[in-house]
This record gives sequence, C-alpha cells and structure tokens, in this order.
Amino acid sequence: MIKCAIVVPCYNEEAVLPVTVEKLDGLLQDLIGKKKLTPDSFVIYVDDGSRDDTWKLIERFHDEKPLVDGLKLAGNVGHQNALLAGLLTVLDSGIDAAVSIDADLQDDIAVIEEMVDQFIGGTDIVYGVRSGRKTDTFFKRATAQGFYRVMHLMGAKSVYNHADFRLMSRRAIEALSEYKERNLFLRGIIPMIGFKTGCVYYERKERMAGESKYPVRKMMSFAFDGITSFSTKPMTFIMDIGLIMIVIALLAAIYSLHSYLVGDVVRGWTTLILSLWFIGGMLMFSLGLVGQYIGKIYLEVKERPRYIIEKRLTNE
Ligand code: UDP
Ligand code: MG
Repeated sequence: MIKCAIVVPCYNEEAVLPVTVEKLDGLLQDLIGKKKLTPDSFVIYVDDGSRDDTWKLIERFHDEKPLVDGLKLAGNVGHQNALLAGLLTVLDSGIDAAVSIDADLQDDIAVIEEMVDQFIGGTDIVYGVRSGRKTDTFFKRATAQGFYRVMHLMGAKSVYNHADFRLMSRRAIEALSEYKERNLFLRGIIPMIGFKTGCVYYERKERMAGESKYPVRKMMSFAFDGITSFSTKPMTFIMDIGLIMIVIALLAAIYSLHSYLVGDVVRGWTTLILSLWFIGGMLMFSLGLVGQYIGKIYLEVKERPRYIIEKRLTNE
C-alpha cells in the first residue's frame, strides 16, 4: 500500500469541478478499497487564483468529503507553477507518490491504477501518453505535433504526446524541487531528472465542461517558452546565417571584382555590393556570437542541479 496524492490545478473551473471531485473521489475510494492506496491518500485541488467560485467549491467539498484537500494560491501563476506548488506541498504530507492531472479530466483517470501498479513495481516516473487525439480539433492536433517536432529539433527531451498527466515518486518530486528555474516547463525538466520511467496509454477525451484555459495566444507563448527555456539553438541559428552571408560576400566579391575588371559596371557598384554583404554577414555573425555568451549565462543562472542521486549504499 502506498500513500498517494492526486494534484489538480484549477483555474476558473467552477463548471467542471463538481464532476471532477465526484469522479476522483470514486476512483480514490476504489483504490483504497483494493488496498492499493492507504486510507489517508487524498486529492488536492490547487486554486490558481481563480476569479470565479472555484475556491468556494473546493472549501465546500473539503468540508463534505474526507479525501478532498485544497490549496489556494495568492494569485494566478499559471498551470505549471500551480502544479509545482501542489507537488511540493504534498511532500510535507509524507506521500510516497503523487499523480498530477488537469481539472477538466480530459485524461483518463482509469489508468491511474496502472500508474500506481508501475510505481509499486519500482518505477519512479510514469507518463500518461495519449494514444490518439481524435477529439482534439485538427488545429490543436497539428500545432501540438509541430510543437513536439520543433522541441525535438531544438534538442530538448520531451515525451511525445504526453501532457502533465503523470505519476511521480517522492524522490522524483524532491529532485524536481532542485530545479530552481522561474521559466517552468515541467514536460522538459522531468525527463532530465532520470530514474526509472514508464508510460501508460489512454485516449484523450473532450473537456467535460467549461472552456479551455489555453487560447491560441497562451498556447503560442507556452510553446515559445518551452523552446527558449531549454535551448539556445535559435542563437546558433543566427550565427549560422551570419556565416552563410559571409560566404555569399566572398562569392559576391569574386563576381563584382570580375565585373569591375571586365569594365561593364557603374562606378561605385562594386564597393557597395562588397561592403553590403560583408558588413551584413559580420553583423549577423557577431550578434550570434554575443548570443552564445548570453545563452551560456542564461543556462548558468538557472542553477539547475548537475546530478540527481538515485541511491546511496551505506553500512550505517
Ligand atoms: N490552469 C491553471 N492556471 C492557468 C491556466 C490553466 O491552473 O493559468 C489549469 C486548468 O484549470 C486545467 C489545466 O491547467 O486544470 C489545463 O488547462 P486547460 O484544460 O484549459 O488546457 P487545455 O487542455 O485546453 O490545453
Ligand atoms: Mg484541458
């Protein structure tokens, strides 16, 4: 038996919360009944500075149901930070593992049991992975897929088709707390931790009620954050363009000097073409070079841990 907390970030979720509470309560009771979870396991709803009655609902459910906990954040800090707040808070309750899931239950809670089984079998991080995206709009599907591709190209590890539905062991969450960065992108950080990982597969459903809290604009900035928090490749890219321009400058030099020697040019054209490409190339190149240093500083100031210890053997 393990003690497990389910962490649910909620932002203006009054429409969906009653259903969610009911379902998760049922699931937890079921798993407690099967003796997989201890009776003091719980679900914690993290109110991410909602402007509707989300917190009032959480308070009410907390009074009515013994398995419901609440955490109210002072203001809206965004999905990722709200999730982190929940995960770090439950560490204090002595949990063995925690599962994070969105309030709209688009992810299939039935696979939580399998996550727990894998954890009992010795896996530290179990990713929930969507086996299909049938219910998502074509637009959401295409943009999401493009995003995973770009992330991959930019060299950030991330689990394909996995959102923030996952189980983490206590020590994995403790390791996560060592990552001090403000630009939090959990999907990129968690694969960096290490430990034994596993996956469970499910069909993603439609949001049960309420609206997506991720309109296109927020989604774009989330994607941009994800890439720029993990990679300084865009700067290398600028430097590469600079190099290409310098090569073009050399070709332009040969061509314009040839034209000049043959004599069929307007006066001044040669100098103009030569300096144009050369200066442009040098500018791009040095911009990228400066960027490389800024990139290094950027990665340093994150003060990420350089390693996470998985086990220690001792004779104490
Ligand atoms: N959420 C949050 N803070 C925010 C935005 C969203 O805690 O500022 C929560 C939201 O309540 C939900 C989860 O993050 O539980 C994912 O949001 P949503 O389902 O709207 O995103 P989508 O599934 O459309 O990408
Ligand atoms: Mg959703």
